Order: sequence, then C-alpha cells, then structure tokens
Amino acid sequence: MKKNFESDVREIPGKKNCDVEGCSNESKKTVSKEKAGAAIKEAGLNLSVKDKVTKAHLCSDHYRKIKKKLKKDREIDRLRWG
Ligand SMILES: [Zn+2]
Repeated sequence: MKKNFESDVREIPGKKNCDVEGCSNESKKTVSKEKAGAAIKEAGLNLSVKDKVTKAHLCSDHYRKIKKKLKKDREIDRLRWG
C-alpha cells in the first residue's frame, strides 16, 4: 500500500518568505524595499532581495523590529520636505 507523503507537505503557491537574510519565516507584511532596507541595516541585519524588486517581504517578527524605525523615518521625511 502506498502512502501519500505529499499530502503532509502543503505549500501554498505564491507564498513568500521573509526577505531578511537567514530568516525563513512566512512573510506577513510588505514594506518598500528602500525603507525596509535602511531600517533592517540599522538593526544589524541584511535584506536578501533582488535589485529589481520594490517591496520587501517581512515576517511579523522582523516587521515589528523595524516598525518603530519606519515611523521615525516618516516623521523625518515630513520635517524635511513638509
Ligand atoms: Zn524575518
């Protein structure tokens, strides 16, 4: 009797993983690559995204880690340009 192992492994097509280097969590948020990249770098990490892409996919852990930085950046932008 054959056992169907494949039914145990489910991969949703199009599902993305976190773009932070070394992180393989499922992504929950997308952030503009530019902003995410800067914030991730400040946190001592690296994004592993291609040059072409404009969005970075982040898992909830890493998103939480940079969320404060993203907010701060937005305020700085407003002060600079507003
Ligand atoms: Zn992550």
